[in-house]
Amino acid sequence: MTGTVYLVGAGPGAADLLTLRAARLLERADVLFHDALVSREVLALASRAAKVEVGKRSGKLSTAQHFINKRLVDAARKHEVVVRLKGGDPLLFGRAHEEMAFLKENGIAFEIVPGVTAALAAAAELRTSLTRRGLSRSVAFLTTRAAPGEAPNDWLRTAVAADTVAIYMGAGEADSIRRDLLAAGKPAATPVAVVENASLPEASFDFGTLDRLPEIAARGSGGPSLILLGEVFADAAIIRAWPSARSSSLPTAPVIPIGRGRSGALR
Ligand code: SAH
Repeated sequence: MTGTVYLVGAGPGAADLLTLRAARLLERADVLFHDALVSREVLALASRAAKVEVGKRSGKLSTAQHFINKRLVDAARKHEVVVRLKGGDPLLFGRAHEEMAFLKENGIAFEIVPGVTAALAAAAELRTSLTRRGLSRSVAFLTTRAAPGEAPNDWLRTAVAADTVAIYMGAGEADSIRRDLLAAGKPAATPVAVVENASLPEASFDFGTLDRLPEIAARGSGGPSLILLGEVFADAAIIRAWPSARSSSLPTAPVIPIGRGRSGALR
């Protein structure tokens, strides 16, 4: 028997931001490979699965990519439903291509289930439109990091050209990001927001301008955090203070009882 490997987006952290498709697959999973940041609530949905942490967490030991690839293939040769759960969306900064290429090479079928990416959860946290009319018609999702052996990427040009910029994996490099952006001509007064733990109860954020980016980024407590830049964030502090329901009034996962059996969405 050969099973299917599902590369599934876990969303930004809150369990109830999983898609229904993801939740149904977790219920059916025989084996679950997941990153370190996936919540216990989400893992609990995979009640029948053998769970394997293959986490990557900056600063901590990560499982070598080729080893993960190999384990996915081995699992699919023994089990019907193998889920590889990745934070946010699997196709953004998630090493999905390496896994898909290896699966294809080994004749294993795979499917992708999208997830809510961190930048969109951060925008929701700030209640700020990334494409507010009159201020922004482009959004760039970028990282300044290059993998070992990879040519440095051209992030600076993109960051200067885009109206709104979301920088992934950048909080630890705020000093050099500020320096490079200023040198490339991004105005020092460009509004900046840093959002940590978007979608989680411990979410926090801070605002300022590009010239103060390092001190804003340093206020975090070490959780995953995103740097956002652009004029749409100029009013972020004001908009954030608009009246709203307390987040505790939001329903928590799982909102909808998830049935057993075949999911129409899956082939
Ligand atoms: N595939 C993921 C991104 C993986 S890279 C996605 O689509 O979101 C990991 C980076 O994502 C972190 O370094 C951080 O910059 C960002 N990130 C992930 N979860 C986050 C969260 N809850 N709040 C803020 N940033 C987050």
